[in-house]
Amino acid sequence: MIKFGMAGKSNILEKCDIREVADYCFKIGLDLFEYPIVHGLPIHHEVIAQNVKSAFDGKNIALSVHAPYYTNFSNPDPAKIESTMGYVSAALLFAKEVGSDRIIVHPGSQRDLSRSDAMSIALENLAVFGNRIDLQEPNNVYIYLETLGIIRQMGTVEEILQMCSIHHKFVPCLDFGHINSRYCGLLKKEPSNYEDILKLCKDTLPENKINRLHIHFSKIIYGNKGERSHTTFADDIYGPDFEPMIDALIKLNINANIICESAGTQDMDALTMKQYYSSKVYN
Ligand SMILES: [Zn+2]
Repeated sequence: MIKFGMAGKSNILEKCDIREVADYCFKIGLDLFEYPIVHGLPIHHEVIAQNVKSAFDGKNIALSVHAPYYTNFSNPDPAKIESTMGYVSAALLFAKEVGSDRIIVHPGSQRDLSRSDAMSIALENLAVFGNRIDLQEPNNVYIYLETLGIIRQMGTVEEILQMCSIHHKFVPCLDFGHINSRYCGLLKKEPSNYEDILKLCKDTLPENKINRLHIHFSKIIYGNKGERSHTTFADDIYGPDFEPMIDALIKLNINANIICESAGTQDMDALTMKQYYSSKVYN
């Protein structure tokens, strides 16, 4: 079954506490909630994690955690790599505390390096990080490496698949809004690309990974460098459209968790996707 949810608070929840957010998600029928710690692990994180956990307890809503934005596994500076690994480890800790099985991580940026140098550095550092996880106490938290939307950022579909092959706990987070932005409308102009991308994932990933795929979806305004800003389902210029994504997932029999990242309307836009999916599967 495909599950649907939202990232962070939508506009109408802006002033609400986490208990009210959880009650609202439950009331409108969302299956997932992505909790952002994109600006770093909060102070008193144990208390915050406990509040998040208890707010969602018993509601059958699965949590994911978005790690801090400023991670970069392609940085040639060893001190900066230590910081990146620290941010990811902090997100892992927070995920364990809230009882989530996944964190979402941005792989980084090539900056002034060549693409191939940036990729080799990322692969090397991800391997080191994988070894560190192996030495930790066993846990069920997976690390989702996200496809990114700015051309100079690391994270094409192919790069993410290669990065994920390094460790059994590394899984792709396909952000289709980012993929569409990076290639200036790839999915909006030619929706059959959804199926090609998902098929590539299915052919490349082991079964346990394809069955726990994580997807971010939003319409995103882009320019010639890629992503500019997230927009809502009211947009019909940039896209992409969600229907062909869901059709392709159903056709290829892939179960994924889909998180909507619309700008402020992520609650209603997630529901729109869920309703479309239900109409396809249950009618
Ligand atoms: Zn992200």
